[in-house]
Amino acid sequence: MRIDLHTHSDRSDGTLAPREVVARAKELRLDVIALTDHDSFDGWDEAVVAAQEYGIGLVRGVEISCRYGGHGVHLLGYLPDPTYQPLLDELGRVLDGRNQRLPVAIARLQELGIAITMADVEAVSADAAAMGRPHIADALVNLGVVADRTEAFDTYLAAGRPGFVDRYATSLVDAIRLVAAAGGVSVLAHPWAKRHDTSALGRAGLEELKDAGLAGIEVDHQDHDAAARAGLRELGADLGLVMTGSSDFHGDGKVNHELGVNTTAPDQYERIIELAAAASASAGRRTPGVVGSV
Ligand code: AMP
Ligand code: FE
Ligand code: FE
Ligand code: ZN
Repeated sequence: MRIDLHTHSDRSDGTLAPREVVARAKELRLDVIALTDHDSFDGWDEAVVAAQEYGIGLVRGVEISCRYGGHGVHLLGYLPDPTYQPLLDELGRVLDGRNQRLPVAIARLQELGIAITMADVEAVSADAAAMGRPHIADALVNLGVVADRTEAFDTYLAAGRPGFVDRYATSLVDAIRLVAAAGGVSVLAHPWAKRHDTSALGRAGLEELKDAGLAGIEVDHQDHDAAARAGLRELGADLGLVMTGSSDFHGDGKVNHELGVNTTAPDQYERIIELAAAASASAGRRTPGVVGSV
């Protein structure tokens, strides 16, 4: 069974519509995928219909923009009740932060002499609920300023570069608690990714997060080299955390992140499903369930 628990559609910064992500997953012979757009459930309904049509398992998820130890980190929340208002309110705050920083970033780029406008960004993000730097990057590509997203981040948008504007993100511990209260399961995305400062996410940090309700860590991810994967695997085993492997697919938006490039072992997937059932029972929330019989 081939399981990929981290993918993005054009409802955030992926380049394929939710139905196209599902279609591609079918084409690439995946059995289960999770749709985990940044800070929004917007793609769920379209993905559900497509998953039923193509006969593929779909886990409804979200990747929440968080802060921990002063650094940006991402939390994958699987199968939360999408009607749980405190979680919706918090995602609303993150989306507001995204929308507020966009014009500021554009003004910065204009100060650098780049003729970019809000309309250029809107042209590449028509279906996005979560607007982000990748959309500014795509606009810069269309304007011929840079060749691709990577160059846009390296030159303008990454932290420390002149077009970078910080934004609101949820405290990681709060996010873990919100996902649990919504009857969902939390897995820390790419904890040791090279472009993040990972110093806070060693043994002590992961222990603290586990106490707050973190169920697992993403181990096999393209931003983890072999040493990082081995280190995380050892820590995860010691702490009894679920360990996943996923692509973090963004369509054309990220090279080397094709669907299924990393996968999650069936026993780890089963643990997530069981934990979700337990979480929804104890939270008294109805979780969305997995589409398909897998
Ligand atoms: P934002 O959420 O707006 O702060 O932008 C962060 C997103 O940009 C991440 O979720 C990644 O998907 C994407 N990203 C970060 N660095 C790069 C890069 N070098 N190339 C392409 N995408 C990137
Ligand atoms: Fe992304
Ligand atoms: Fe991420
Ligand atoms: Zn992601």
